Amino acid sequence: MVCSDSNPTTNSMDEKQKSLSEGQLIELINDLKGYVAYQESLGAEFFPRSTTKIPPHPTLTEVRRDLGECTRCKLHLTRRHIVFGEGSEKAQLVFIGEGPGEDEDRQGRPFVGKAGQLLTRIINAIGLRREEVYITNIIKCRPPHNRNPQQEEIATCEPFLNKQLEVIQPKIICALGTFAAQTLLKTDAKISRLRGRFFSGRGIKVMPTYHPAFLLRNPHKKKEAWEDMKKIQKEYIK
Ligand code: SF4
Repeated sequence: MVCSDSNPTTNSMDEKQKSLSEGQLIELINDLKGYVAYQESLGAEFFPRSTTKIPPHPTLTEVRRDLGECTRCKLHLTRRHIVFGEGSEKAQLVFIGEGPGEDEDRQGRPFVGKAGQLLTRIINAIGLRREEVYITNIIKCRPPHNRNPQQEEIATCEPFLNKQLEVIQPKIICALGTFAAQTLLKTDAKISRLRGRFFSGRGIKVMPTYHPAFLLRNPHKKKEAWEDMKKIQKEYIK
């Protein structure tokens, strides 16, 4: 039996059929393109848009709504107001303290007492206004008699801080005092060892420094705090 591929006449016909079918294909594609363009001009959709619903980026209002009149830890029993936080949702710089004090508990706003006034002056000294930054605390309710927050209370409240940071996505966090620094950096090192350097927490630069209430009691430490703030200012304007 002789192989048909060895027949030169058959090969030439195959080549002709092949080039003919390529030409037809190009013609067909061009026809199809023209048809699609025409139908689209009439409003037809050939590639329907995805019906998958992407959840909208949450806002601070939504995070606050989720928190509600929170009773997740025992601090709800003694608080007057939840102190959620305030400032710009688009802040590049977020200040995080330990927890509300008496004035904050009464007013429902963060850092409004004497320590808060000092924080406001510090913010102004680096060329910013309170409205341009965001200010909050690790826990949102005042511990009785301003005692230190307990680990269980911090762990219960922390998811809401995380959500706030997810919404704001700041460039820099200034951790005010031991509890804020230790919670954000997952360490038990003291603030005196942590302050003055940038760390990375949640992909954000974190600068621990002294809490303004500590500075009021220890004014000789203000110089060190000011050094820390100058580093923040430099990073902020980069
Ligand atoms: S401290 Fe946080 S978790 Fe505890 S009751 Fe207040 S808002 Fe809720």
